[in-house]
Amino acid sequence: MPIDFSALNKINEGKTKVIYENPEDTKTVYMVFKDDITAGDGAKHDVMEGKALVDWKTNKDIFEFLNRKAVRTHYIESPQDKVSLVKKLDFKINLEVVTRRVAAGSILKWGNVEEGTWYDPLITQYHYKDDPLHDPMLDESYVDYIIRAKGGGEVYAEMKKINVDVFEHLEKAFAHFGIQLIDFKLEYGLIDGVATLIDEITGGSFRLWPYAKENPNLNQSNVLGELDPSGRLDKDTYRKGEELGQVQSKFERIAAITAEFKSL
Ligand code: C5P
Repeated sequence: MPIDFSALNKINEGKTKVIYENPEDTKTVYMVFKDDITAGDGAKHDVMEGKALVDWKTNKDIFEFLNRKAVRTHYIESPQDKVSLVKKLDFKINLEVVTRRVAAGSILKWGNVEEGTWYDPLITQYHYKDDPLHDPMLDESYVDYIIRAKGGGEVYAEMKKINVDVFEHLEKAFAHFGIQLIDFKLEYGLIDGVATLIDEITGGSFRLWPYAKENPNLNQSNVLGELDPSGRLDKDTYRKGEELGQVQSKFERIAAITAEFKSL
């Protein structure tokens, strides 16, 4: 029997998901995906038919892959289409954690950064999650300070470790399909007192650029010539104004790839 969400208490509704309480287990909540797609802190907004289903599939396959790799995540299972069951948070760390392997997007505005610059080690930026303030970037030591001040102890260090692990797992996984993970945005919370990966990872969370050739040389300071940004599969297609059908078909391609993560 499908879950009757009209009978459940809504805990929170965000731009792309609704969270409902689970009356059968107060330690878990339901995460229900929506067809809404937004960009620019919500300034651009559309409803894209089929997005909830494709995001749910991508998210499910990625989180199940990460759970198999023993990454600490909130994800438990997906009881029906567009619905996932996740562990309830003790508290949310109000940050968007952006991690970059290749320079693209907003980092290009920060001085003379050339698109395609390869970062090793990875670059991580912590943004305070607040649309009216446009998610300002915070100093790392300040992030650590705030978390400690709230009694979070070593949570910052734990979060940093999970973040690099997730990037490396996903980068390797996408590489099997001739795709470079350029960057992504993740979110974290505390569950049972420890840092845990929360939220979603879908076509809107990362940049994915196909390799421009079969065996790209990624061992150089700029890899733009080795990759094909015009073949991008991610939400930049929406940000750049491509029509919704085109964006949806890119998201379907991501879901078809992440479905194959089962074999990795
Ligand atoms: O725009 P920017 O270059 O800072 O984005 C870095 C990465 O974080 C991109 O993969 C983008 O899709 C993602 N992001 C996000 N949500 C935001 C901002 C960025 O998922 N609010």
